[in-house]
Amino acid sequence: MKNLLNKLRDNNYLSYDELLKVIENIDGYKDILFQYAVDLRKKYYGTDVYMRGLIEFSNYCSKNCKYCGLRRDNKKVKRYRLSTEEILDCCKEGYRLGYRTFVLQSGEDPYFDDEKLISLVKKIKKNFNEAAITLSIGERSFESYKKLKNAGVDRYLLRHETASEYLYKSLHKDMSFSNRRKCIKDLKDLNYQVGAGFMVGLPNQTNKDLARDLLFLKGLEPEMVGIGPFISHPDTPLGEFENGTVEKTRIMLALTRLLLPKVLLPSTTALGTLDNLGREKALKSGANVVMPNLSPTSVRKDYEIYKDKICTGDEAAHCRKCIEGRINSAGYKVNMDRGDHISLQKFKKYI
Ligand code: SAH
Ligand code: SF4
Repeated sequence: MKNLLNKLRDNNYLSYDELLKVIENIDGYKDILFQYAVDLRKKYYGTDVYMRGLIEFSNYCSKNCKYCGLRRDNKKVKRYRLSTEEILDCCKEGYRLGYRTFVLQSGEDPYFDDEKLISLVKKIKKNFNEAAITLSIGERSFESYKKLKNAGVDRYLLRHETASEYLYKSLHKDMSFSNRRKCIKDLKDLNYQVGAGFMVGLPNQTNKDLARDLLFLKGLEPEMVGIGPFISHPDTPLGEFENGTVEKTRIMLALTRLLLPKVLLPSTTALGTLDNLGREKALKSGANVVMPNLSPTSVRKDYEIYKDKICTGDEAAHCRKCIEGRINSAGYKVNMDRGDHISLQKFKKYI
């Protein structure tokens, strides 16, 4: 095991069989793995943790992912959409608090067509010139992604969810595995900074599936990777299943850091939901990004992707302070810059 971990650290690569072996036999070697991941993260990003302001602007969704509380068949959700003014107010408050990245996330909501989104993106860019915009609004056509990029969107988060086709199919009855991948490839081709990623502890997921997820990411080389534990939501078909664990998620974060040393890797809210210190633990496993919430408190509890999501009652300013305290206590420091992927940060010096 020690040899395999050293090989991974030195080459940033392991074969499928080797990765599987590491995942299956990691007990007793976790501290070494986490230390290697932290060392590598410090080599490229020091102790900086990048902050992103998350705006959950619509919880309408036309998709029916079995794991998600916002799926269209969940009739218990109180659906909402923020107006342009409300979204701009969130950005204004975020900007005042120092945020220079806004992540706009929603269900797949057809109401927000290209025209509406382009107008919104242009307004945000006009008012908050140096801020980066990240979209996380699901699958769209190449043309739509292209128009949004031209309007000023910098980054896009679209998790692949699982790299195993049979598992993907079992979780998404009316979605296409190949289209999800095509969307991620389109985003890459259009020069977005792209975030892929997956859930850990999905029902019926095996270590083989996880090894496949890691190698998919290695091949894709995304700028960002979102990894969080699956957390069951009672009003979904997976409501009775067990949650993923913080430990397994930490292992996946650390392995991702070793495979993709320069990646931007969020410590997700889902980890903080399972364990009060989950986000700090992620930072100590190679993560270097956090995404505090900027959504109005009046709608926070209605964006319940999974059960008991934390921070639903807290004002943006409170979240900002709370997260900073957690980052400092873990031995890291807040960085409020745009926080582009390091390859672009270097490039910018020459512009
Ligand atoms: N609709 C967009 C963005 C919002 S969902 C999309 O699907 O891409 C954002 C992410 O939440 C999803 O990619 C999924 O990985 C995660 N998610 C959904 N349900 C979850 C659950 N029950 N537990 C943990 N993560 C979940
Ligand atoms: Fe909709 Fe995204 Fe939830 Fe799937 S994961 S149901 S696309 S919000």
